[in-house]
Amino acid sequence: MVDVLVIGGGNAALCAALMAREAGASVLLLESAPREWRGGNSMHVRNLRCMHDAPQDVLQDAYTEEEFWQDLLKVTGGATDEKLARLVIRASSSCRDWMRKHGVHFQPSLAGTLHLSRTNAFFMGGGKALVNAYYRSAQALGVQVRYNATVDALEMDGGRFVAARIGPERIEAKACVLAAGGFESNREWLREAWGQNERGEWPADNFLIRGTRFNRGVLLKAMTAAGADIIGDPSQSHCVAIDARAPLYDGGIVTRVDCVSLGVMLNRDAQRFYDEGEDFWPKRYAIWGRLVALQPGQIGYCIIDSKPVGRFMPPVFPGVKAHSLPELARELGLPQQAFMETLDSFNAACRVGSFDHTVLDDCHTEGLSPAKTHWARPIDTPPYYGYALRPGITFTYLGLKTDEHAAVHFGGAPSDNLFVAGEMMAGNVLGKGYTAGVGMSIGTAFGRIAGTSAARAALKEGAHAAA
Ligand SMILES: Cc1cc2nc3c(=O)[nH]c(=O)nc-3n(C[C@H](O)[C@H](O)[C@H](O)COP(=O)(O)OP(=O)(O)OC[C@H]3O[C@@H](n4cnc5c(N)ncnc54)[C@H](O)[C@@H]3O)c2cc1C
Repeated sequence: MVDVLVIGGGNAALCAALMAREAGASVLLLESAPREWRGGNSMHVRNLRCMHDAPQDVLQDAYTEEEFWQDLLKVTGGATDEKLARLVIRASSSCRDWMRKHGVHFQPSLAGTLHLSRTNAFFMGGGKALVNAYYRSAQALGVQVRYNATVDALEMDGGRFVAARIGPERIEAKACVLAAGGFESNREWLREAWGQNERGEWPADNFLIRGTRFNRGVLLKAMTAAGADIIGDPSQSHCVAIDARAPLYDGGIVTRVDCVSLGVMLNRDAQRFYDEGEDFWPKRYAIWGRLVALQPGQIGYCIIDSKPVGRFMPPVFPGVKAHSLPELARELGLPQQAFMETLDSFNAACRVGSFDHTVLDDCHTEGLSPAKTHWARPIDTPPYYGYALRPGITFTYLGLKTDEHAAVHFGGAPSDNLFVAGEMMAGNVLGKGYTAGVGMSIGTAFGRIAGTSAARAALKEGAHAAA
């Protein structure tokens, strides 16, 4: 029997597998995806949010524990467990040497990547390179890996893990780490969680999934049925407005459209519905998926003129281009009269001061509802561009309740051999909202803790058996 079974094949699972192996346990990792699609959402990532008290290689200035904590507190509105959050924050300051040892390389942030050069360390080659490095290191250390291995059930004895099942096959282990992601790729479950709106629509039917198709929440369901303690709201997720032409799965980072704060956003009735200039784009990009999800038909249209071109990261698909505003309305299939009324009143309401996208500048609207409070400039310089946007789900926040040892809890009591990491428990730290790079901070911290805890549990059991 293997010592530690790790279920999942992304960042959290790999961190757990490597730590368990380093602690002397034999490890088997089960990845649902085939080898070429291994790595879950982690293959799409670019960076990790890191606390640091002074400049460090790729990180500028300082980003203290307190500032990181305040950022987390703000975005979650208090829906976070302070003890676990601080544990993640502290771990983020010291994990990079360990990551380097396993082949991960870092680079400074690129210009235009959400101004993260102080707070976030970027992975050279992105998440794909990180995942590949971890698999290589795992293989070199003797971790066994199986692909196309979707666990569909867990056998429990009260709060103790006994075995995992893949169809008729039964795999026993002394301890187990669950790191199988959220349920973002389970469209039926998303439909159920979002329900039907007042217009009779099922909003989730129009969602796109930014990452892997393999995170279907099978084990979240199984653990709920087994009586594990659950945390979070199933309708909460990280949800970004992405290009409506993106594929249903795995569109990744390049389908994000980052010019919202530089233009206006309309719904399909050509009406504005939120302040596009409320705050810096890095602090606001993750609210727009939900805002679009609440609009009729779950679609939004970002409209810019030629002035902002070059000031935002170009998305993978070019915008629809037109030489006049009526032509743009026609090309986008929006009602032309309403479109012109909205754009005319927006343009007339703009009070342009000193435009500066790097500060909360004084360009704003007057007498308009909703207002645009910064970076408001008339949309009047052709060519014009429009992007149709849909809600793009990154990951869901419903998860298993855990503690500082990453144990799964049953009726408030920790399991002594079942642990959890990554998206499956991120809701303990991130009840709602998001701050860029914290997904990887949580997965890395708890992946490493879960691996260590599982190895300790397994090796203790082995010692008992031998005695
Ligand atoms: C486009 C995109 C960009 C992102 N960028 C960033 C970023 O720059 N920084 C950041 O911090 N976060 C980012 N995130 C979020 C980040 O991906 C996650 O927080 C993190 O990768 C989660 O890691 P994980 O190991 O928990 O899940 P995943 O990496 O998704 O891994 C889950 C694994 O479980 C496997 N699995 C699922 N079900 C089963 C089963 N039943 N049996 C066996 N295996 C199963 C899957 O195949 C997959 O390998 C991004 C996400 C996306 C989609």
